[in-house]
Amino acid sequence: MNKVTPALFARYPKAADFAASDRAELEELVRTTGFYRNKAKSIQGATSKITSEFGGEVPQTMEEILTLPGVARKTGNVVLGTAFGIASGFVVDTHVFRLSHRMGLAKAKNPVEVEKQLTALIPEKDWIDFGHILIHHGRAVCAARTPRCEDCVVFSHCPKIGVDAKPAKERLLKTGKPLSERIASSKKKKTKAK
Ligand code: SF4
Repeated sequence: MNKVTPALFARYPKAADFAASDRAELEELVRTTGFYRNKAKSIQGATSKITSEFGGEVPQTMEEILTLPGVARKTGNVVLGTAFGIASGFVVDTHVFRLSHRMGLAKAKNPVEVEKQLTALIPEKDWIDFGHILIHHGRAVCAARTPRCEDCVVFSHCPKIGVDAKPAKERLLKTGKPLSERIASSKKKKTKAK
């Protein structure tokens, strides 16, 4: 999404411009992000409401933001936290959901309940930053299919719930260094972290 926003905002600088946009042209601009038809429809719906009911400005409460078409708690938390610095809850996207379970921070089966468990566990002052940290960590290290536990800074603290150790072992075998050397260096890292 970050890749398409420069062209998108250059073409439609204000909410009213998005609302009045040609649907086919808008779809083309967001095509590479997937589900582009639904996204274009939601963008037009949300910006129409922002224009007609909120004076062209994004509302700054969760209650109001949830009235916009296509906007649920995840987006609401991202916008309120990142754009306005308002900690109204905890962003639970696919990365936060996965990492919360692996790290033993939450057990719930759906994002709304995971958010409740995270907000109960983590101090409010950290909700925004910790959400960003988990998302970046999920993208860079704790990926869905191949978490790189052996390179992870929280290796010695993380219970690694549901993580299969096999992929890590396979990666060790694929490297140029002898396995014994790689395992020794991995253990060293673990000891250092303690
Ligand atoms: S130790 Fe493994 S499971 Fe835990 S956060 Fe790091 S990469 Fe993810």
